[in-house]
Amino acid sequence: MTRVYLALGSNLGDRLANLRAAVAAIEERGIAVTARSSVWETPPVPAGQPPFLNAAVAAETGMGPLALLRELKAIEHALGRRPGPHWGPRPIDIDILLHGDERIGMPELTVPHPRLTERAFVLAPLADITRGALPCIGVSALELLEGTGLQGAVRRLAL
Ligand code: ATP
Ligand code: CA
Ligand code: CA
Repeated sequence: MTRVYLALGSNLGDRLANLRAAVAAIEERGIAVTARSSVWETPPVPAGQPPFLNAAVAAETGMGPLALLRELKAIEHALGRRPGPHWGPRPIDIDILLHGDERIGMPELTVPHPRLTERAFVLAPLADITRGALPCIGVSALELLEGTGLQGAVRRLAL
């Protein structure tokens, strides 16, 4: 089994329900979720679209990276994701951040996720569920988050 970290985002429809449905679907497909972050509200990148809710989960899976990507794309489709503008609004986005300590550079899959280290909307949730140096990256999510200078832009949702 390999420890993987996934990033989830939604900025269309019932965003919280979409994140919850995605986590449920991940588990239904035999990917065992072992930790889940808080939900964070984050400004859209690029601007000019609704704000996102973002989260991150840790999971254990026997799936290789490409098989996992295929499952995640099927979940996105089942939750109503359709081809749209790059970085445009979407009901759900699920990205593979890390897959064990593997490095992958293929047209359809880059791991670690290439924009992981610069995105507060990924790092804030990831810092909820990780401590210490991230595999492959060697720096903690919290240190990376501090380095973005964008900590103030993301907001942990509370009751
Ligand atoms: P970004 O990658 O900047 O977060 P995005 O999530 O909006 O952008 P998508 O349109 O969801 O981009 O995905 C485009 C393609 O990226 C996918 O079809 C997938 O094959 C590829 N891809 C490459 N690396 C990854 C990864 N680590 N996780 C998920 N998809 C990836
Ligand atoms: Ca993404
Ligand atoms: Ca994606």
